[in-house]
Amino acid sequence: MSSNVSERQAREVAEAARESGWKLPSFGRELFLGNFRLDLIHPQPRLDPEAIERGERFLARLREFLESDVDPLEIEREAKIPETVIDGLKRLGALGMKVPEQYGGLGLSQVYYNRALALAGVWHASLSTLLSAHQSIGVAEPLRLFGTEEQKRKWLPLVARDHISAFLLTEPDVGSDPARLATTATPVEGGYELTGQKLWATNGAIADIVVVMAQVPKGDGHRGGISAFVLPCDSERVTVEHRNAFMGLRGIENSVTRLDRVFVPDENRIGREGEGLKVALSTLNTGRLALPAICVGMAKWATKIAREWSNERVQWGRPIGKHDAVAQKLAFIAASAFGLEAMLDVASRLADNKSGDIRIEAAIAKLYGSEMGWKVLDELIQVRGGRGYETAASLKARGEKPVPAEQALRDMRINRIFEGSTEIMHLLIAREAVDQHLKVAGDLLEPGGELKDRIAAAGKAGVFYSKWLPQLAVGRGQVPTSFDEFDELAPYMRFVERSSRKLARSTFYGMTRWQAKLEHRQAFLGRLVDIGAELFAMAAAAYADTLERERPERRAEAQELAELFCAHAKRRVETLFGALWDNDDDANRAAAARLLDGRYRWLEEGIADPSGEGPMIPAEVKQPASAPAA
Ligand SMILES: Cc1cc2nc3c(=O)[nH]c(=O)nc-3n(C[C@H](O)[C@H](O)[C@H](O)COP(=O)(O)OP(=O)(O)OC[C@H]3O[C@@H](n4cnc5c(N)ncnc54)[C@H](O)[C@@H]3O)c2cc1C
Repeated sequence: MSSNVSERQAREVAEAARESGWKLPSFGRELFLGNFRLDLIHPQPRLDPEAIERGERFLARLREFLESDVDPLEIEREAKIPETVIDGLKRLGALGMKVPEQYGGLGLSQVYYNRALALAGVWHASLSTLLSAHQSIGVAEPLRLFGTEEQKRKWLPLVARDHISAFLLTEPDVGSDPARLATTATPVEGGYELTGQKLWATNGAIADIVVVMAQVPKGDGHRGGISAFVLPCDSERVTVEHRNAFMGLRGIENSVTRLDRVFVPDENRIGREGEGLKVALSTLNTGRLALPAICVGMAKWATKIAREWSNERVQWGRPIGKHDAVAQKLAFIAASAFGLEAMLDVASRLADNKSGDIRIEAAIAKLYGSEMGWKVLDELIQVRGGRGYETAASLKARGEKPVPAEQALRDMRINRIFEGSTEIMHLLIAREAVDQHLKVAGDLLEPGGELKDRIAAAGKAGVFYSKWLPQLAVGRGQVPTSFDEFDELAPYMRFVERSSRKLARSTFYGMTRWQAKLEHRQAFLGRLVDIGAELFAMAAAAYADTLERERPERRAEAQELAELFCAHAKRRVETLFGALWDNDDDANRAAAARLLDGRYRWLEEGIADPSGEGPMIPAEVKQPASAPAA
């Protein structure tokens, strides 16, 4: 299947893996439909006192361990997390933070799991990456969601205690497009034989147990398809061929792992055959909150460093924070840290409360957290000037505080790529955003088809749109006193309500204008999603109320930050709305096509390419000598 997958097949595979129903209400889904259901996220659920107690106790122990036993400079210098640190994390129970107590874990809530990741991630991002790859996508989460009771009892206590896990989906020719998956799981007596090569598995180089995605061929008694397996790494013929090194996250143990007819018994399959991608995607629905948690931690840290440094550093007769250009950046950093934390807290409490479907909110948190987190750290580097570009080790050697700003930026960069790149998150969220339209008008959007079917489809669509479209004309956001309970934030909540309807109308215009071709208008869809993300972030800023309820002494400060964040977000939304219809998309697409055709090759003259020789992607992933011919 691997090399000749068409765009249509790729889409069908992704579609089949998608959770098609909506069993619980979704704030995000409603928002994109023009229905601002603030009540679905506000007031936020209260945290369970017992969960707070347990969470705070763990955070205190983790903080003490980091400060006394973990040297972040050593991790950076050696490009390795020392074994003593990994052992210490195991002793703390950090490998089982999210595993329920009945299976030997700490049973932390999502809110506290996130806080722990943020704490560890700011100390060194390789630590949070180890922990989150281990339990947000590694063995624990897929088993928690799809495992049988027997599987949970067998594996969860191990991964909660001391067995490091990893998630093996990516291959040299399989990144954003899992339909190309080439690793096979061939049915044999009592189980399957796995053969293939897996790339970039975080923790893969030191893992004890991994989740592997592999294709089961269709056959007698086998429905086939991509399936998920739990694989102990001490199984015969599992080889770690290479430990990959990256721009950042220097301490992670990321592998190229070769599987050469590796036997896994039937009982190690998670879910049914063909359900592998569903397992992966559902795992990520909440698992995706780990990554924005790390981004929140970094944004909070950036706020601290920016404040300390901008007060202390004096240039041109003033602390630099008092120069307007720097002050603007400080405000952006602090407001964004607040906005990111608000969004994460809202999504995480929903995850704990289980009262809503948070697939859109978690996906937005990942997209928005990684994009904004990157901008925040980039601004921090600028504020730090030359020191922003200098390594912590070099600063230390010169006798200065070893602030790892450049490392933070390097470590942050990957968040826009893994667990769904920004481009893929745009498509994934856009797919959810237009779900209702596809349900009522999908048959109309596709060209062709029988006339009678199209007439029936038009009737179905007509019923929906004759009710839905008029609703988009008016709403609470037009009433000057609405949302007054939000005090200073009220105008912003009204703006979100109005913009949500405008967003829905814009989506509809886009659909009528481009019909089935809308899916190729990725820049347009990306902007729709970005508007939705900003609106969700603004609505989440009502978290200032939660802060006030839980920490009344912080009321004024929280309101100030929420207001500032909303002001920034509102401007971004206005720009995005403008760019929906006034842009260079067509010119860019045409230019890209010419570029790809080589028309501008002369532009590349006068440079020497240091990349060296070798294929960008190996033409054929070498099969192990003993693998049967395909
Ligand atoms: C440090 C690190 C850790 C990782 N950890 C893991 C792990 O633990 N387990 C695992 O399985 N994988 C892991 N990965 C893999 C990671 O998830 C992939 O890199 C990611 O999915 C993107 O795939 P790719 O790199 O092949 O990019 P490609 O899919 O080749 O994409 C290249 C570019 O094209 C864009 N693009 C692709 N398709 C489309 C489309 N249809 N429309 C628009 N744009 C598109 C992408 O957004 C990207 O900008 C890791 C990678 C790294 C670097």
